[in-house]
Amino acid sequence: MTEEREIKVRNPRTGTVDYRFRPAGAPDIKTLAEHLRAGQASDWQRDLQARILTLRRFVQSIDHHREALLRALSEDTGRERVAEIEVASVKRVVERAIELAEAAFARPVPVAASIPGLFAHTQLVPYALVGVISPWNFPLLLAMIDAIPALAAGCSVLLKPSEITPRHSEVLQQCIDDVPALAGVLAIAQGDGATGARVIDVVDAVAFTGSVRTGRHVACRAAERFIPAFLEMGGNDAVVVTDSAELSRAVPIVLRAAVAAAGQACQSVERVYVQDGIYDEFIARLVQEASSLELTAGVDGQGHIGPLIFAQQADIIQSHVDDALEQGARVLCGGKPLCSGGIWYPPTILTDVHHRMRIMQEETFGPVIPVMRFTRIEEAIQLANDTDYGLSANVFAGDEAEGVAIAQRLDAGVVSVNEASLSTMVHEFEQEPFKHSGMGPPRMGASSITRYCRKKLIVSNRSEQVRGVESLWDGAR
Ligand code: NAD
Repeated sequence: MTEEREIKVRNPRTGTVDYRFRPAGAPDIKTLAEHLRAGQASDWQRDLQARILTLRRFVQSIDHHREALLRALSEDTGRERVAEIEVASVKRVVERAIELAEAAFARPVPVAASIPGLFAHTQLVPYALVGVISPWNFPLLLAMIDAIPALAAGCSVLLKPSEITPRHSEVLQQCIDDVPALAGVLAIAQGDGATGARVIDVVDAVAFTGSVRTGRHVACRAAERFIPAFLEMGGNDAVVVTDSAELSRAVPIVLRAAVAAAGQACQSVERVYVQDGIYDEFIARLVQEASSLELTAGVDGQGHIGPLIFAQQADIIQSHVDDALEQGARVLCGGKPLCSGGIWYPPTILTDVHHRMRIMQEETFGPVIPVMRFTRIEEAIQLANDTDYGLSANVFAGDEAEGVAIAQRLDAGVVSVNEASLSTMVHEFEQEPFKHSGMGPPRMGASSITRYCRKKLIVSNRSEQVRGVESLWDGAR
């Protein structure tokens, strides 16, 4: 690797810098891209069965390095249970991608075109090299969720993980190296935004997960090269809770969806709208349940809420809470970080909020729950849709039909009814983020494979008719 400025990495649990690495420079990226394009010369694009075998070997290799991967991922993120979920998820992502790839690449049956005698079929032609640029909040899962379908589709992949959580990539590299067929088509380029920008310069398509701000840079750079950019970005997910909702269901689920992973998830609940009739009871129960949650800041590391991975995120969360308090909001629990080496933010409930507050308009990415009262359903729908984001949303109502009727009017790519954040569990259906939350064909369902391919149409003439130059004749005789 060439001499780039060393990147220092903070440990989210201790707050100290305990890891350093040199990012990949432009020549390194060029070499990696050449290596991955050469990997395409093998049968990778043509042989689905070889790809399936290779991806299953990758899962075995991850199993083999499981302990080391878990350790590194826990150091990256400051959390153990979620690290286990991330590692376990790789197998599911692989199996789902295999199933979808088998369906996508099934031998096509030519179909008759509208012109007699002509028959057409579609060939899916994978992009040779796809760049995957991933964020720090679920570093392994969010890298694999884009990289594995691209590999299953027949592409090579150059992965650029977040510079905030780089430790696990060392182990991931070993998992890749143990499967030689994979090492020819999957490589990791460690680095920050500059490295990410260079990756875009050498690939044929880019799949990006991260903030709207960075997504805009990625989209512009990709547009300059006329390559597709698939963007999965931030959210400001709302929950609408109607008078008919079952509180014993709505309260614990809303709380879970707001504080899971300390709120550092794109589909976290960020705003709650509760109807008049149950508002007081909802708030009382929510505060009681939220106050009973524990931070993992103790020496035994036990608890519900882990540390914030990225120190600057604490400043963003606090600035949103302070802005709300300055504009008249009330804090019913939480509201201040606990700094004990790492930074922990407690579950925080705010009331008396309105839509000129940053907490209601921007992505907070922390365990903060602003709750607003509404009277008419129309009002709740208008408030829920009053945001630049449209990742997902949630509704709690007395019955499914009432919930679905509201869901149909919310501007979001996935809406959970009588549950929350179901997009984290249901991956087999296509769904697209609305507004600034994303761009490009769906990351899930059949499109998770087909978006990495161009559609080539092959048309044959099966008729006896010979269309020669005489068919061009347009004269009078
Ligand atoms: P980020 O935008 O800061 O960084 C994401 C990645 O982009 C990192 O690898 C970073 O190094 C790279 N990058 C930065 N500048 C770049 C540039 N100019 N060109 C190319 N790459 C560049 O995001 P983050 O802070 O790591 O992640 C948090 C954000 O990600 C939140 O907004 C969250 O909602 C979003 N997110 C979205 C989803 C989703 O599926 N929609 C999932 C997880 C996180």
